[in-house]
Formats: sequence, structure tokens, C-alpha cells
Amino acid sequence: MQINETQLKQVDAQVRRLAALPNHFYGKRLREAGITGVSSVEDFLSLPFCEKEDLREAYPLGLAAVPESEIVRIHSSSGTTGTPVIVPYTQKDVDDWAIQFARCYEYAGVTPEDRVQITPGYGLWTAGIGFQAGCERLGAMAVPMGPGNTEKQLQFMVDMQTTVFTATASYALLIAEQVEKRGIRDQIKLRKLITGSERSGEKIRKRICDGLGVEYYDIYGLTEVYGPGIGINCQYGHGMHVWSDFVYVEIIDPETGEVLPDGEWGEIVLTTLVKEGAPLIRFRTHDLSRIIPGDCPCGHNEHPRIDTITGRSDDMMKIHGVNVFPAQIEEILATFPEVSSEYQIRLSHLDGRDTMRIYVETNGSVDWEELRGRIARRVKERIGFTPLVKIVELGVLPRSEKKTKRVFDERYD
Ligand code: ZN
Repeated sequence: MQINETQLKQVDAQVRRLAALPNHFYGKRLREAGITGVSSVEDFLSLPFCEKEDLREAYPLGLAAVPESEIVRIHSSSGTTGTPVIVPYTQKDVDDWAIQFARCYEYAGVTPEDRVQITPGYGLWTAGIGFQAGCERLGAMAVPMGPGNTEKQLQFMVDMQTTVFTATASYALLIAEQVEKRGIRDQIKLRKLITGSERSGEKIRKRICDGLGVEYYDIYGLTEVYGPGIGINCQYGHGMHVWSDFVYVEIIDPETGEVLPDGEWGEIVLTTLVKEGAPLIRFRTHDLSRIIPGDCPCGHNEHPRIDTITGRSDDMMKIHGVNVFPAQIEEILATFPEVSSEYQIRLSHLDGRDTMRIYVETNGSVDWEELRGRIARRVKERIGFTPLVKIVELGVLPRSEKKTKRVFDERYD
């Protein structure tokens, strides 16, 4: 979806502001490129991208685009890969984020009558507090549990009769399995699950929906751009509407940086339109998706839809010269009803060759040898190389409360 007049004006205002900041990394980049403003689509497309690495280098407060007295809060993205990114927020940013998050709840059909059990983490993370602020803004009742303590989660779910559960897909799955195991399905009143920050396959979704009796909603967002809540799917499918009054979305070819037409898969690039504390222009998220072409039956076509995130552009595995995404493997596994929704991919270098081992779970009533062969053949047919398939007993692969790591590249360890 091409950038519109209003959005162009908003970007122009941000660009002018950043270009005037002597020490801001993007301001410097704009000055080097001789860019002082944006007045056309061509101007917009000539703006340089920015990367997470740029934000890291601005640590601790170099991203601030306002005087420090206007900053009311910071959040930080995980530092698992080095220096964390610190994102400063003004009061308007905090309010805007809550407005967006409340809109997400609304699209999911949550009302002030609902009770929302919040299990994502609080603190430097944008997760818990985002879910809570949006809930309060909407007028629903927040039950701010935070992560972990499954016993207590289940107790509150029953005693508080919560109607909306917010969690990562992995944790929702764990809860669904516990509800089933304890036979307490008839004691819970959940009707909706809102999940974010982790991609989940069709099979996992179905298992959670069946186990908890909920409708499934997927929220989109990242700490660098407010946090979760900049988009959510509506009741008409998996496409997530992204709020075009706050964020402009592009899809680019991750190799060449070229902007792709609607419908084509590539990397999501986001531009904030009204952010004060830390505006970002053409930020490369490395999330892979596409813009779903055409109209949505819900009628909110002013907010373009992105498809379910299928992975990270940096998750791309190159094996025997073939580009493979974990999502492709997951899609193939989903066609085997005999295996569970959990899997693990391990890449290793054995005897001078790259090898992919895929671990899947099944139960004792299946002929393991025969199943291994069928899975390996289907991967060969669909992707072009033969993996080693390893079958383990149901429940052996790790489940976690946070994002479950499913791909292990041991080739360069
Ligand atoms: Zn819709």
C-alpha cells in the first residue's frame, strides 16, 4: 500500500526534526544524504533504512529525539545478542501505545465486561505493561499475573472467571495441556486468547483453541516501535491489521532492499508516524511476512493487513545451497496428524556435509520407522533435500513459558 498524503506529511515532520538533532544517528545519516524533508513518494523511497544495530550503538539514551525532561519512561529489548536497545517514551508515546492496544482488544471483540489475565512479563519488557495499559484504557478488568507460576494462573483463571487470556503461544499451549490434564475445562470461562511475540503454526493454534475453548488472536509489535499492539488480526482471518495512523508498513526484499508489491513475501519495514521519544524511519524488523492484497470483510481497509509472521530473515537456513525457513518445515510437519505440534531442528556439520535433523514427537501406536521415511520423503519433495528425521516419545521435547527455541545451528559451534 503506497504511502498516502497524510502519512507523507507526518514522515516529513519527523525527518525535519531528526535532521536538526546534532547527535542523533539518523539525523546524521539524513544530513550526509543531503535530505532535509520529504514531499513525495520518491522522496520517501530514497530515505535510508535503519537497523537494530544502529539502535544498539545509541545505547543508552542516544535514540532520544526530545529533551530528557519530556521522557517519562524507557523500555528495553532483550540483550541476548549483545548491548540492549533502550527506547525512550514521552507521555504522548505512552498514551498512543495504549490507544493502539485498546484498539487491538476492540478488534478482538473484548469489551469492558471482560476480565483479562495477563501473563506476559512486566519490567523493562514492553509486553505485560502494554497488555495492561490497553486493557485499562478499554475499560476491561486487568488481572496482572505476569509470567510463570502455572498453579496460580490456573487458580485465578477459575476463581476470577477470566474471559480473556494473554500469553505467548507456548505458554498458552502449556496451560491448555494442564487444563485438559486436570479436567477443569468446565470450570473456566475463557472465550478469547490474545497472543503475541511468537509465531505459531496452525496445528499449535488448533490444539490451544480446542483445549481452552477460545478464539485465537495474534497481536503484532516490537519494542523498538511502541511494543506489542501496533496491529492484530480481526475475526475474518489471520491477517493482522496494522494501525496506519501510527505506523507505515513496507515489505522489502531482504537481499536487495527493494520494496515489494502487495502480496509478495519479504521483510517488514516500519516507519513511525507520530512518535516523539524515539521516532524510527524505515526500520528493518527482519520479520518475514507479506501485505495481504485486497479488501478485508471487516471493512477496515485503511489499516493494511500483514500475514502471519513466518519467521525472521536471519532465521533463514542455507543447507545444500537451498534457502529454508523453519516455517516451511513446520508446514510440512502439520500435514502429519500422527506427530504433535512440537518439533526441533538441528543443523550440524558431519563428515564434511551439512545435515539437518528434525525431531518430532509421536506416541507408541505409530510405526516409527515408516513415519520417519514418509516425513523425510515429503521434505525432499517440497524443499529439495533429505533431512534425518528423529522420532521421540510425546512430551519429550521442551515446552517453555517464553519463546520456545526450535532451531539450533550447531555447524559453527
Ligand atoms: Zn479485517
